[in-house]
Amino acid sequence: MSHSSSDKEKRKAHGKFATRLIHFGAEIDEATGASSVPLYQASTFHQADLEASQEYDYTRSGNPTRQALEDYIALLEGGTRGFAFASGMAAISSALMLLSQGDHVICTEDVYGGTYRLLTTIMNRMGVESTFVDMTNIAEVRAALRSNTRAVFIETPSNPTLRITDIGEIAAFAKEHDLLTMLDNTFMTPYHQRPIELGIDIVLHSATKFLGGHSDVLAGLAVVANDSLGRRMKQIQNGMGNVLGIQDSWLLIRGMKTLQARMEMSEKGARRLAQWLTEQPDIDVVYYPGLPNHPGREIHEKQSLGYGAVVSFDVGSGEKAKKLLSKVKIPLVAVSLGAVESILSYPAMMSHAAMPKEVRLLRGITDGLVRYSVGLEDIEDIIEDLEQALRG
Ligand SMILES: *Cc1c(COP(=O)(O)O)cnc(C)c1O
Repeated sequence: MSHSSSDKEKRKAHGKFATRLIHFGAEIDEATGASSVPLYQASTFHQADLEASQEYDYTRSGNPTRQALEDYIALLEGGTRGFAFASGMAAISSALMLLSQGDHVICTEDVYGGTYRLLTTIMNRMGVESTFVDMTNIAEVRAALRSNTRAVFIETPSNPTLRITDIGEIAAFAKEHDLLTMLDNTFMTPYHQRPIELGIDIVLHSATKFLGGHSDVLAGLAVVANDSLGRRMKQIQNGMGNVLGIQDSWLLIRGMKTLQARMEMSEKGARRLAQWLTEQPDIDVVYYPGLPNHPGREIHEKQSLGYGAVVSFDVGSGEKAKKLLSKVKIPLVAVSLGAVESILSYPAMMSHAAMPKEVRLLRGITDGLVRYSVGLEDIEDIIEDLEQALRG
């Protein structure tokens, strides 16, 4: 049975974000009308006519299930081409492979720990140098520019203190100096922030977090803003072979369909939680871009459609933080974020444990700092649980 091309044309993604999340173009199988993307669990493809060119020949180079996911994320981010990788770090390291020996990259100082480790222990051995700067200060970014600088790597909001970089300002600086811009959009997702529309060249995701949304898939995604970058990324993805598996590609598509519904509810909860935390006398600091006193709030509102679902706060000491972690009953106490269940992390002993203590404290990552990723539980239950854990 074959569907006419006008049928496919009719189903071309259109409408607002929520509609595109569901009607992204591949949501109905063309051959059978099945209501989800088929799992093409195959490593290779029969070539009946060696003279004819065919779309798929080997799954590392291309697979229809993974392709549906790659087209889906490209549509959501407003880029020209998407790429699915085995993890967020596989996506980030592949993007950095666009650089060559002797190149220099300017990177945000409070970048994800894995990205920091990649740049300082692996990319440096390949002859790619990096300078870490306070990306919220354009003067510092300008001062880091060298004759061999080729790229700028941004993460906003940063983790765990949620500092805000002006995306448009950095993109303009990069264009002026012919630099490639990469942005880790994991915390915001394309529902809240679409960096390509602000001039960024490559958007990166740990899809393990909000995009997957269920703490059951490890995956990474990249989206590029133009065809020439698309061709170069394709060569890297195929050459390195760090592609996402077929079943995980399917699971990720499944999770992404509910992105807006999840983000809306979690963000609503995060806003309520952040406000409640500011009213508690025993909480020292609350970090959330939606709070009136957040230093980056105005910039964030200019470039994003929401504040996200992550709230960090300082309970005053390592002892109090550990007590809180041992007493909470609702959240998963774990590394990670962005899931249907709330996740409470302790940066000092988890994500930032490898950072020298002086550097960690300088970045505001004190022994009392915890990070709450608000899930889909009732927010009043979450607050009640925190209250008993803090006071009980
Ligand atoms: C988790 C995370 C990563 C790494 O992604 P993995 O899927 O764990 O490889 C990168 N950036 C940010 C902001 C993250 O939270």
